[in-house]
Amino acid sequence: MGYLETVCVRVGSKRIESIREEVFDMAKRLSCRDVGADCDFTVCAETEQEIFGKMAEHARTNHGMSEIPKETYDKARSAMHEVERC
Ligand SMILES: [Zn+2]
Repeated sequence: MGYLETVCVRVGSKRIESIREEVFDMAKRLSCRDVGADCDFTVCAETEQEIFGKMAEHARTNHGMSEIPKETYDKARSAMHEVERC
């Protein structure tokens, strides 16, 4: 999940230290409630595509929505928020 990145610490123009720290990619989270459904289903993934994929599947099987309207996608896109990890 995370990867190591070398971070240079500088004072003025002098490089005094080089440290390695773990950097995590941000994940995205979206819940059904965020798009106005009375449902506690929450999906978390690293990409928007993955979120939409899981959400569409959930909507189809749990809400009987064979298709997600464009407005819902727009709403979902703006309601989606970044989290440090899933
Ligand atoms: Zn739901």
